[in-house]
Amino acid sequence: MGGPEISATAQAFLGRQHRLLINGDWVGTDGGELVVDNPSTGDELTRVPAAALQDVDNAANAARKAFDDKSWRGLTPAARAAVLWQVGDLILEHADELAELEMLDTGKTFAMARHGEVPFAAECFRYHAGWCTKLEGSTKDISTVPGQAFHVYTRHEPIGVVGLIVPSNGPLVQASWKLAPALAAGCAAIIKPDEKTPLTTLRLGELMLEAGVPPGIVNILTGTGAEVGAALVRHPLVAKISFTGSTETGREIARAAIDDLKKVTLELGGKSPMIVCADADLERVIPGTAGAIFGNAGQICVAGSRLYVEDAVYDDVVQGIAEVAKGLRVGPGHDPASEMGPLISAPHLDYVCGMVESGREQGANVVTGGDRLNLGGGYFMAPTVLANASPDMRVVQEEIFGPVLSALRFSDPAEIPREANSSRYGLAASVWTSDVSKAHRLAADMEAGLVWINCHAIPDMAVPFGGYKQSGWGRENGLEGLLEYTELKSVIAML
Ligand code: NAD
Repeated sequence: MGGPEISATAQAFLGRQHRLLINGDWVGTDGGELVVDNPSTGDELTRVPAAALQDVDNAANAARKAFDDKSWRGLTPAARAAVLWQVGDLILEHADELAELEMLDTGKTFAMARHGEVPFAAECFRYHAGWCTKLEGSTKDISTVPGQAFHVYTRHEPIGVVGLIVPSNGPLVQASWKLAPALAAGCAAIIKPDEKTPLTTLRLGELMLEAGVPPGIVNILTGTGAEVGAALVRHPLVAKISFTGSTETGREIARAAIDDLKKVTLELGGKSPMIVCADADLERVIPGTAGAIFGNAGQICVAGSRLYVEDAVYDDVVQGIAEVAKGLRVGPGHDPASEMGPLISAPHLDYVCGMVESGREQGANVVTGGDRLNLGGGYFMAPTVLANASPDMRVVQEEIFGPVLSALRFSDPAEIPREANSSRYGLAASVWTSDVSKAHRLAADMEAGLVWINCHAIPDMAVPFGGYKQSGWGRENGLEGLLEYTELKSVIAML
């Protein structure tokens, strides 16, 4: 299997001496370096700095100083909006380069990065540019002192320095989902990309400076979670942590943030159920549910990984999805023929294979897939469908974060919400039926932050996103997501 032909632009980026962004300058570190590889080949792409504790402190001080100077939050809302809109424009101007870097760094297909993730990241900055001029408080009429006039109002104020920690499955979009609202609210930010996928965040930092974001308002620290991420969570100048990643890491962060009662939002793991009723349109169900589990090789927090199908159509649906799986062209992100790329790392591939093995041992039937694929040095997994799964199996209870679907059957639609909700996760769900009333009743019964009807995994910047139960705290996107970067102040003035 051939390696990627890398464009001169991307090659120039990869060949650079990468640095940390602190106070508007790209700086070196004493912390050492991290190898960044291409999951499609296993080959080294480049190296990035491993920030040291001193760098975390420097970034926090720079961010706090920039926040105190009001170099950003002191601008008019319209001026901040113009800068954020310009970031969106620059992302689109450099769309091919960003998509290529994202493809090389994550293994996702070029088409997905170029036509999905990059325009969505640009849209995120434009959406939040619009909020800068619309972040409004309210006025109140109070009753405590009869006969006395008051002027009482509320203000949404930026929370301060925010620490943003993102995962490896959608690095550019995840970084944008945090940086854009943080800046729209007027905060100063320090972002730590995942150590496996830091490239587009570094490039985004350059574009943000070019767009006019003042020094110290965006700082980028590449490094490991255990060192740099943990130090960010503990730093006293960081007022809030916004984290996206696994539930286990989220729990560690919540524990560490207790000491100074830092504000924390957590976007965590999922085990999203897809409920297919016998009256659903199978022409839509089969491609829709297959896309929901095999998209991005299943490395999507809302991946539809538990499939509940009503008896009458169970065999047709499971067979139909298995046929889609068999027809999927698995291959490196850089091959235009590939429809599904690799997993993010060799240890993750081992974990996913181990989970499938546990399914086999617990009695699930492997309809298709089930093993790794030897395609060069990359970390490829065959799209896998497990039938006859039962609620107590690990493959039904635990997040796999790979292209592995566990199918269960049901006969009593009245029982299905209880079963679908019997998970510690509650990120998303989908309901597939032609009966409008049934669809909305089931949507209301799902313990999930986002429910799709007759579709799955369609995001939008306007739609709040986040988890019930152990899928997280707080929301991203929409006004609700923006307000997570603000404190609410009430002012009571006696006239
Ligand atoms: P992860 O938790 O291993 O890592 C995520 C980030 O946390 C990385 O930047 C990592 O360096 C950092 N980190 C690790 N340990 C840390 C610590 N002790 N303190 C601070 N930071 C630390 O997650 P991952 O494996 O990269 O991502 C996959 C997980 O992310 C899945 O569970 C997936 O469902 C979840 N996810 C959730 C959403 C969502 O919006 N809910 C979106 C994407 C991914």
